[in-house]
Amino acid sequence: MISAKPITNFTELALIEPLLARLTELEYLQPTPIQAQAIPSVLAGRDLIGGANTGSGKTATFALPMLQDIFQQQSAKSAHSTKGNYVAGLILVPTRELAKQVADSIKSYSVHFNGAIKTMAVFGGVSVNKQMLALRGGTDILVATPGRLLDLISSNAIKLDLVNTLVLDEADRMLSLGFTEELSQLMALMPKKKQTLLFSATFPEQVQTLTQELLNNPVEIQLQSADSSTLVQRVFTVNKGDKTAVLAHLIHQHQWRQALVFVNAKHHCEHLSEKLAKRGIAAEVFHGDKGQSERTRVLEGFKAGSIDVLIATDIAARGLDIEKLPVVINFNLPRSPSDYMHRIGRSGRAGEVGLAISLIDHEDYHHFKVIEKKNKIRLEREQVAGFEVAEIAEDSILAAEIAENKPMAKPEGTGKKKRKKKAKINEDIWAGYSKPEE
Ligand code: AMP
Repeated sequence: MISAKPITNFTELALIEPLLARLTELEYLQPTPIQAQAIPSVLAGRDLIGGANTGSGKTATFALPMLQDIFQQQSAKSAHSTKGNYVAGLILVPTRELAKQVADSIKSYSVHFNGAIKTMAVFGGVSVNKQMLALRGGTDILVATPGRLLDLISSNAIKLDLVNTLVLDEADRMLSLGFTEELSQLMALMPKKKQTLLFSATFPEQVQTLTQELLNNPVEIQLQSADSSTLVQRVFTVNKGDKTAVLAHLIHQHQWRQALVFVNAKHHCEHLSEKLAKRGIAAEVFHGDKGQSERTRVLEGFKAGSIDVLIATDIAARGLDIEKLPVVINFNLPRSPSDYMHRIGRSGRAGEVGLAISLIDHEDYHHFKVIEKKNKIRLEREQVAGFEVAEIAEDSILAAEIAENKPMAKPEGTGKKKRKKKAKINEDIWAGYSKPEE
């Protein structure tokens, strides 16, 4: 870790004029913390581990020094930094969306280089031919998803022999999407001597191994503890009366350990634990009527991992002194939108992606919308395979929406067929978290 330097102005960062002028135009008034801390080291050529999320300004953290370096090299050689089908700055990203977004930001930062620096994005899911054509003559900066990049290399559209800066963006997502093998194939094609910058929101073991293998005496900047972007929120629409069955199904299917289930009343805790017990799940309850010794016993068991599922009310859970959990489930929605945030904030253990699930039936539908609105979130309604919502339930949701004269949420159409087709069924609860492009 390095200590934060009190840099409050981009001009203190030794950036060149075409970049500074652009930052002024973009109204970047001062560097974000990661920019202030990391840009000097990156400009000095150091490898970097950046613990930062989207929204932290990490793109500019790697893009500005990369642009500056390429521009200065070009000026020194009075020529493009690349020749033939080579690339100088390579940025690997997990998804197509991120590839586009990063390339767009870099193009925006480079407008005052007047076309001297070529930046391209390549990703799967679209025709490879256009990308091959566009890569002719090489590119200074390439933003790529790993699978598509390997395809382009195998058809000789691009070579990595001259890469001098490599960025691994959202490394944790890249690995969790199964790109490990692709990454090691790509590494083998790059020069050993290069600058490597790795950004990740979380640092599970796989990412730590990658950093040890790839980075040389890196500067380490850890910005955040677990925050909302290490937390995946999902909402499942279920039939009234199906919540227990769906919960049991999900617990069995995903073998959750240390799952915290929220209900709204003490007697619901007991009731739900009895129903889960009938389905082979030993869940313990945690609420205000339990004596201190019993609460301590349950809490210790839950912490130690001998109790997999804990059912709690909000009030009892406030006194739960536990570290962040892998999964939090809203079996009943909390009454207040801020309680929703408190509940889900219990998930997202450091270094791991947390999961917050809400089960909603049609009676919860509007309340959940209020929770979303107040918390400025909007989640896609999903369904669990085998527990599809009956037409009648969907119809009552629609009817309620019409009665309230509110615009209908997107996934619902008016026709039966349309609704059926659009309902998203998840075979695997993680399947929709984020998808690789290739
Ligand atoms: P990123 O984390 O790189 O995805 O950036 C998040 C958003 O912050 C983007 O819209 C950037 O344009 C913007 N941004 C990045 N750095 C700054 C800055 N220093 N001042 C203002 N906005 C910034």
